[in-house]
Amino acid sequence: MKGNYTNLNMYSGINTSGNGTGKMSLGKSIKMYLTIFILTTCIYMALYQYHISREPFAAGEVVKHQEKSSSYIASYLWSPISLLMANSSSNTINQSLTTSTTTTAPPQTTTTTASTGTVGQKLGGASSASIRMVSLAATIPTFMSSASQLRSGSVGGHRKTAGIKTSSTTTTTTTTTVATASGVAATTTTTAKTSAKTSAAATPTASHTENAHKTRPTFVAASVPPPLYIITPTYRRPEQLAELTRLGYTLKHVVNLLWLVIEDANKTNPLVGHVLDRIGVPYEYMVAPMPEKYKQTKRAKPRGVSNRNRGLEYLRQHATEGVLYFADDDNTYDISIFEQMRYISKVAMWPVGLVTKTGVSSPIIKDGKLVGFYDGWIGGRKYPVDMAGFAVSVKFLKERPNAQMPFKPGYEEDGFLRSLAPLDSTEIEFLADECRDILTWHTQTKKNAPAQALNRTHYKSTNLEHIDKLLVRP
Ligand code: UDP
Ligand code: MN
Repeated sequence: MKGNYTNLNMYSGINTSGNGTGKMSLGKSIKMYLTIFILTTCIYMALYQYHISREPFAAGEVVKHQEKSSSYIASYLWSPISLLMANSSSNTINQSLTTSTTTTAPPQTTTTTASTGTVGQKLGGASSASIRMVSLAATIPTFMSSASQLRSGSVGGHRKTAGIKTSSTTTTTTTTTVATASGVAATTTTTAKTSAKTSAAATPTASHTENAHKTRPTFVAASVPPPLYIITPTYRRPEQLAELTRLGYTLKHVVNLLWLVIEDANKTNPLVGHVLDRIGVPYEYMVAPMPEKYKQTKRAKPRGVSNRNRGLEYLRQHATEGVLYFADDDNTYDISIFEQMRYISKVAMWPVGLVTKTGVSSPIIKDGKLVGFYDGWIGGRKYPVDMAGFAVSVKFLKERPNAQMPFKPGYEEDGFLRSLAPLDSTEIEFLADECRDILTWHTQTKKNAPAQALNRTHYKSTNLEHIDKLLVRP
């Protein structure tokens, strides 16, 4: 013990004149440190009590944040600043949730063209200010009756509602929604009202894939920035949900966008609907099967053509402005290309990586002018470009009522672009830094064998019974 004291004395360096005085000073120091420690702890505790008394999150809404807060709490003990910051940020979240709940109309919602316009302006104004504000508006959930009802009741897939609306709790099942481009209010109003009525009575269904749809974003096309319509063909296969998930979260970074997911099938798949709901990008899920004669052929098939033509048909009916883009579910997109394509007036093109032996497919630009196309396979095409390498304005499309994609393998892009005639090459805009950059890639996913059947007896009452239902088997 004595040795220890002596050591401490030496370390403290307080006194060299005598042991007695040295011990006094040590005692004082310890007392002082203890007092400071107790006081600091008390202050932390008080601040923490104050913090939890604020109950920043609406019950259930932000469960994940609350889970995360166990580590927050640990950090509060050491950092009052982080405590204050966490408190203020959680209040911000709370405020925005509250705002969305209280300012949105009661479920009768929507929808005259005029009100759609108003919302559109709000969206537009917000979007120029910040992505955050728009995505808030765009992700206000709409609660409706059970997924299965809506899906089975709709022709060609999921139905939509119009306008910005409802929200509130997260307890119901739900689903549906999506959007409407300005001018489609009439057809969608009924749906909105009906579903709003049923929403009160909605009860969770047994199926977990169905009641997992907690939110369903609403899309209302805004004029500014111009809306984007992303047409994505998809088809049933083991990779399908993974592809859609990856693409969906890319699209989630883009404002004022409606994702038209069109499956080469006779009916929609609830698993796909579930994934789309979970991603939270405004979408329309439809089906458009490949005609039988092409399915049977042993030669190359026109993949995704009926799907894309269905998307074009949708735009002719519902869209008035903005830009369309064909985004295959397996490709890779830098989001800056979406911001560039919004503002085109007719047709735009840009390079696509990972195409043929050239490694890239691109318009060739010299002195700001199109002088040809670089692609490993020209095949007599006027426009030897990849599906991921061009976008078209909706107005321009609508001025060409016969424009569509041919069921001609290898010539889908060329055929569609030719069908947009008259189109002068000087009217084509070249994006991605005048085709000096690569922002899209024709990636391909390795094909996986179908999952083997689950031994239901062996794995009875385990989680495997649940996840087995989530596998897409061809
Ligand atoms: N696709 C489809 N039906 C099919 C095959 C493909 O709808 O039978 C879709 C697919 O999901 C993709 C697009 O069409 O979005 C192009 O297909 P794929 O990626 O297989 O063609 P590749 O990129 O190899 O030319
Ligand atoms: Mn592909």
